[in-house]
Amino acid sequence: MKRTPLAAALFAIALGGTTVVAFADDVPAPQNVPYSAGALKINVDATDLAHRVFRVQETIPVAAAGRLTLLYPQWIPGNHSPTGPIDKFAGLTVKANGKVLPWTRDEYNVYAFNVDVPQGASEVEVDFQFLSPQDTRQGRVVMTPEMLNLQWNTVSVYPAGYYARQIQAEPSVKLPAGWQFGSALEVASQDGGSVHFKPIDYDDLVDSPIYAGKYFKRLDLDPGASTPVHLNIVADDPKYLEVTPDQLKIHRQLVQQMYKLYGAHHYDHYDFLLSLSDKMSGNGLEHHRSSENGTPPAYFTEWGKGWAMRDLLSHEFNHSWDGKYRRGADLATPNFNVTMGDSLLWVYEGQTQFWGQVVAARSGLWSDKQYLEMIAAVASVYDKGRPGLASWRNVQDTTNDPTIALRRPLPYRNYQGSEDYYSAGEMIWLDVDGKLRELTGGKKTIDDFAKVFFGVNPGAWDVDPYTFDDVVKTLNGISPYDWASYLRTRLDGHGPLTGGLASHGWKLVYNDKPSDAVKAMEMFRHMTDLSYSLGVSIGKEGAINDVLWDGPAFNAGLSPGMTIVAVNGRSYDSDAIKDAVTAAAKDSSQPIELLVKNFDEYKTVRIDYHGGLKYPHLERDSSKPDTLSQLIKAK
Ligand SMILES: [Zn+2]
Repeated sequence: MKRTPLAAALFAIALGGTTVVAFADDVPAPQNVPYSAGALKINVDATDLAHRVFRVQETIPVAAAGRLTLLYPQWIPGNHSPTGPIDKFAGLTVKANGKVLPWTRDEYNVYAFNVDVPQGASEVEVDFQFLSPQDTRQGRVVMTPEMLNLQWNTVSVYPAGYYARQIQAEPSVKLPAGWQFGSALEVASQDGGSVHFKPIDYDDLVDSPIYAGKYFKRLDLDPGASTPVHLNIVADDPKYLEVTPDQLKIHRQLVQQMYKLYGAHHYDHYDFLLSLSDKMSGNGLEHHRSSENGTPPAYFTEWGKGWAMRDLLSHEFNHSWDGKYRRGADLATPNFNVTMGDSLLWVYEGQTQFWGQVVAARSGLWSDKQYLEMIAAVASVYDKGRPGLASWRNVQDTTNDPTIALRRPLPYRNYQGSEDYYSAGEMIWLDVDGKLRELTGGKKTIDDFAKVFFGVNPGAWDVDPYTFDDVVKTLNGISPYDWASYLRTRLDGHGPLTGGLASHGWKLVYNDKPSDAVKAMEMFRHMTDLSYSLGVSIGKEGAINDVLWDGPAFNAGLSPGMTIVAVNGRSYDSDAIKDAVTAAAKDSSQPIELLVKNFDEYKTVRIDYHGGLKYPHLERDSSKPDTLSQLIKAK
């Protein structure tokens, strides 16, 4: 029976207790001591493709009789939020010496389960299933007829009361017959279709997912190196596994450019896991010795088309240094059920966003032109595209968004702000690079910061946490300046955050021609982007995605959720609305008249806008040297 707060409060008063009653969970706090009873044996059966169910059988050694609290991971690294999929955890049965032990869920922590271990038991047997999503409304689809993505946090429980790295695990997995896999885990043996991995601590296990598939390819990205780096690819169809020599060369350059940037690495081997699929959900999730990357199937086979998102692998790889090895102190939590603090995500994600794009250009994943167009698109967002950051919110506050919004769609994203610490962070670091160059006459750059801050202690593995003061101290070590104020002004202020462009010799301008970057993103997101003209972006068949707060479309009464049916009396399509904007710019008496549908109601909306189409571009400022081109030059 669920105890109500009122009943509990009355109970406390009846006992003559204090009038203040705290409702807290009853989960033992993690201690930094070894879990000495023995290693968790975690056996996962991942063969039920028809039902997309992972079946788990786990043996947990116990040292003594009494209460045992088992935790299902809640705070997921890389998500920076309490997103452990407890809603898909089912079928829990716990046994000791062959007898079922009744379990109870902690009243105030739905991720914690208590059992009473009887005298004489040396281990408990835990069985449960992870019911993976059947469609994307339920979460990421991770199992298809051709591939699967096994994340250990979804298919294991662990004892409360210990640091995750103090708990040893012996994992194994049974994969569908004939499938191959990639993972940072090291294989100990294989039998009867099961793969047994070498013992690993639970912290590293959760950091070491598996991509497995019917169609699989493994490429060596650093031939002959003492620290191997591989690209493991699974695909919907073998035809997507065709990789040209040029494409292989570019991915090898990615590894070398990252090494030149940091000068040290913090793994003994690294495995990119890449899914090329329309069925399995896309992904981008960093780990210390691997990364999960998911793109549409034609990543290699339609190389020219899908370039907008081609900084994915460089972004996730960069996290091995920034985020996994060096981590904001409030994110370096002892286990997966302790609240994470996200205050330094503007370094973790912001600088990774910065390097992900710069190194994409340095390695050839992007051309210089593609980089410049992309940075213009990013800069425009922090010039005119985030009225919420210009008015009520700041970049620092957006670091709370993984917990606030949990990546759910937002009604007015541009006004609410979201995970802006990524791209706003990128703009801030571009600004820092400009300042370092200015202070040192071009002798020092952000490459120096990267090397000193992230590229230290070659071969060291353990997380090296840092604080805001450490960031400031390192910058001061490169070039003395009031970096604390410099950063805080940008993090806590209201923008714009485009100063880095000017310091690198470029200007942000707008004209009526979309860049290839804008076109590529329109294609990727199936939308028409009129953010800087009408103040609206429109999805398939006229469905309005986002309306710029206080922009022309907003002030005319448009909002997300409406559908544009007709433009100036003709059926809506992407060209029709752009033609209407262009016509209204030539003739200020010409209205832009939209027929929109809102629920079952149709209405005519007139937008009084005559500024024409507007898309962001970069233009050289010849009074200053072009250091942006120097920044993205291969090392
Ligand atoms: Zn990231």
